[in-house]
Amino acid sequence: MKREKILVIEDEPDIQELIQYNLAREGYRVLTAGDGETGLKLARQEAPSLIVLDLMLPGIDGIEVCRRLQADPATRAIAVVIVTAKGEESDLVLGLGVGADDYLTKPFSPRVLVARVRAVLRRGGLSDPELSSEVIQRGPLVIDALRHEVRVDGKPVEFTHTEFKLLQFLAASPGRVFPRDHLLSRVIGEDAIVLARNIDVHVRAVRQKLGKHRDLVQTVRGVGYRFRDERSRT
Ligand code: CA
Repeated sequence: MKREKILVIEDEPDIQELIQYNLAREGYRVLTAGDGETGLKLARQEAPSLIVLDLMLPGIDGIEVCRRLQADPATRAIAVVIVTAKGEESDLVLGLGVGADDYLTKPFSPRVLVARVRAVLRRGGLSDPELSSEVIQRGPLVIDALRHEVRVDGKPVEFTHTEFKLLQFLAASPGRVFPRDHLLSRVIGEDAIVLARNIDVHVRAVRQKLGKHRDLVQTVRGVGYRFRDERSRT
């Protein structure tokens, strides 16, 4: 099983430890930060799949951390689960408004935490068989994971395993920018990190096979790639 990286931003040592312990026990690689500044720095450096984010933090608060994560194309794709104390409901709404994917209210049970984290990762990633069995339809494109088949304008087109995963991963979240190294670790696997430029080769191959629909996969200069979001076209 691939070990996904999770960053925990929480200033209370007891809670930080509780979260870290339970996620690590589930097989995740867990990084921790005690304040927003450190958290943001780690998010950029380590490109975790998910961040567990406390809202009440010293210095920059959780909402601001969320905003900055969203504003930076390098961190925008990272999933965020907010942790909030009871009575901070207005902050919670704010947090979900600035891009958080889910939330937990303190005190929470470790089991609920792990379940939420897993569910959010499942929505955004490919590690779960549930998503892999889905059929994704995007305009002229049909991606059928069960049959490992891609149809472009109704015609089946051959994709290699990696190309298929890459296309499926991008198409699952239209409009979301994925940094190259994020795509690499999620699509190709951690061992390939050294070959950072490899992803460009795979993207080129995918585009070639999409033919006249090649611009469905867009380059975000200096960052990575995204699947065109039809809903936000102007
Ligand atoms: Ca706190």
